[in-house]
Amino acid sequence: MNDATDERWVHAIALGGTIAMTEVAGGGVAPTLGAAELTGALPVGLTGVRLDASTFREMPGAHLELADLVLLRDRIDELFAAGVDGVVITQGTDTIEETAFALELLSDAEQPIVVTGAMRHPGRPGADGPANLLAAIQVAGAEESRAVGVLVLMDEVVHAARFVRKAHTFRPSAFVSTGVGPIGWVTEERVRVPVRPASRLHLDVAATDPVPPVALLTAVVGDDGRFATAVAELGYAGAVMAGFGAGHVSLRQAEYLGDLAKEMPVVLASRTGAGETARATYGFPGSERDLLGRGLIGAGSLDPFKARVLLSYALALGWPVDRIAAAFERLSR
Ligand code: ASP
Repeated sequence: MNDATDERWVHAIALGGTIAMTEVAGGGVAPTLGAAELTGALPVGLTGVRLDASTFREMPGAHLELADLVLLRDRIDELFAAGVDGVVITQGTDTIEETAFALELLSDAEQPIVVTGAMRHPGRPGADGPANLLAAIQVAGAEESRAVGVLVLMDEVVHAARFVRKAHTFRPSAFVSTGVGPIGWVTEERVRVPVRPASRLHLDVAATDPVPPVALLTAVVGDDGRFATAVAELGYAGAVMAGFGAGHVSLRQAEYLGDLAKEMPVVLASRTGAGETARATYGFPGSERDLLGRGLIGAGSLDPFKARVLLSYALALGWPVDRIAAAFERLSR
């Protein structure tokens, strides 16, 4: 909190994304607006908040890398050390479900970190960026948002980074928290966060730790699984298998994955988009029982995209397979 007043000090960091896009030569929109322009375009003044802003990247969400998030966490830590009460990140919505979860793993700060963006660029009727930014600042400045992990604010809804997913290509209401629902909301200027996630995991990756590449494979009907045979050769350090249903693959793929798990950690997730992977239900070759028996690690309730983020950072820290398995188990509780 700001010493002399009871104002909350919020800092907005811009990374790019549709919220910052304008028309460019050659057609279409691309990120051009920095943090000062975004905060300067807010529709109404903020009461009880001291706001400042900086630009960290100007890129589409698709260009962000897991190593960028480690540098961003360091920048956020500096801001908190300087007395900032809460941070807002504006970025491309395409990757928010992964980047917010990355920050959730990387940061152990109690101060709110709130990620937002826009589904409609500033030139479109009904552009949602200013409203999302305003609400995100309110969430970042609220006492209710402390110690709940990294949050995503879209369309006046507060999501926990661990559960949030982008579930529509265009609508402002594109974001959902599969399986559990959102943990809060903003109404008028009131911030409500009545639900608090039970467990949190901290991976203290340093900017000097290279983040190794992790492959994501998806089960599709009739696929013989030959991609799995190329994973090691391509230089990946780990793999996530987005299996059918509760964690199932084809016969041939089961064999390939078993071989791969002898060389690197392979995590078994579900491509369904919700629910926990099974451990002890099915007994056919290629079932979850078979694959876990071949050395794969169950992703539990983490979806394949978030499982890949966790595995990447665990490998950056050089964690052995049993520690990685324990981390997935912990986040399923
Ligand atoms: N459609 C995206 C967005 O909403 C583009 C991006 O992720 O940069 O921001």
